Parts: sequence; structure tokens; C-alpha cells
Amino acid sequence: MSFFRDLIDGIGNLGGVTPRAGKIATDSVNPKVTYRNSQTGVTYRLERGRRRSIGLVITTDGLVIRAPHWTPIYEIDAAIDERREWVATALEKQRARLSQLAELKDGGHLLFRGKRLRVEVRQGLFEEIDLSDARCVVTTATGSIDRARLDRELWALAAQELPELAVAMAAAADLPLTAVKLSRARTLWGSCTIDGVIRLNFRLVQLPKELMRHVVAHELAHLVEFNHSPRFWKIVESLDPLCKRNRRAVKAYSVLLEL
Ligand SMILES: [Zn+2]
Repeated sequence: MSFFRDLIDGIGNLGGVTPRAGKIATDSVNPKVTYRNSQTGVTYRLERGRRRSIGLVITTDGLVIRAPHWTPIYEIDAAIDERREWVATALEKQRARLSQLAELKDGGHLLFRGKRLRVEVRQGLFEEIDLSDARCVVTTATGSIDRARLDRELWALAAQELPELAVAMAAAADLPLTAVKLSRARTLWGSCTIDGVIRLNFRLVQLPKELMRHVVAHELAHLVEFNHSPRFWKIVESLDPLCKRNRRAVKAYSVLLEL
């Protein structure tokens, strides 16, 4: 029964594409997806499918072209050429946004609790990350930041904070929460299942606290309203009075999920 499926919230979804690493290569998972250069020099990912027209969309992967199975490449190139300026502007905006959120090198920065922390890299024998509200100091033997290690650090913080927050908010509002799990879903900030389990993305600790709370409120409200009806939004609003504003603000951070 579809009612028992997970209710997943594409709050962070940019255009409905499952993001993949932006390599210029044939995608090994989905043979329908390829990366190629157009005659205009623009690199794009091509997704062929059952559709009637060519669609252009900017994701964190860059430009994605969706085209019918039968469309020849020259037609796709022509479509890109036609919208060259739009593509260039959109790609530039996307790049600027990504670099605002994280630049993992000495003197770079990391978004943490909604603030841009300066990243400092130190040489040392032991790998260590000192992440607090005020600074991000990475000690490393190699001189470069291991992104996975930084993610583990964020995960550990999220594991301390998110379940506690969700349990407290659920208790205060008398909502039937049974468990809180962390997720690393690449397009979702949170999800909820019919048996009272909510999943929260560990990157929520990178957001300003009010936005982290907003996402938790959203998932908690699904414990009683398994939909996005007006009744659902009423519950979210009771948990987060600035619901409308925060909902919009969360969308701007969606790009974080795909770092
Ligand atoms: Zn939802």
C-alpha cells in the first residue's frame, strides 16, 4: 500500500535529478547518462528519456540536458547554442553559490551553523579537526583536507544534537515520535515514515539553528499529517512560528546537500 511508503521531502531537490559526481565520463550506473561537450564548448550531462522536447536545467552537477531518445546530438547542441547566455549566467551563479558554502583549503571557509567559518590547515603528525562555532582548524599530515573526515566530524555533532532536539520538540507538542535517525541523503533534508521514525540529514548542523529547527518541525508534523495539506502546515507553524520565512530560506541551502 502506497500509504506505507516513506514520505520523503525534496526540500533540497534542485530540479529532480539524482545528483552524481560531475565527472566527464559515461555514467557507469545509468548507461543512459553521458557527459559531453557541445560544439559551443559547454560540458553537460545528457539524460535521455521518454519525453518530447529538449529540456535544459542547472543542477549542482552543472548543466543537464534532458532529451528524447531519438534526438540527434546536433539538435541538442543547437538548443544549447540558442540559450548560450542563459546557460553561462546560470552556471556562474551556481558556482558562486557553491564556493560560498564551502571551500575546503587553508584560508577557505566552511558553512557551520549558518556562519562562514574560516578554514585553517595546519601540518601535524596526527589528523585532527577542531570544529567549533568560532573556528575550523584541520591538522593534517598530508596538507590537504580529507572531506570524508570533515563529514564524519559533522556527522558526530549531528548525532549529538539532532535526536535530542527532535525528541524535545516532539515531547513538547505531544507528537508520536518513535525514533530519530541520521541520513546522508543527497537531495533531502529529512524524511518520515508511517511508523513514527524521522530521518534528518547530518548537514542540518551546517544550517542556522532556526532552519535546522524548521526542518525538524516539518518532519515531526508528518508524524500526524502524512501529507502537505493546510492541516500539515498548521502543525509546522505551531512548532515554528516563522515557518513561511524559514521554509524559503532552507531552499537556498539545498546545494549543501550535494557537496
Ligand atoms: Zn514534507
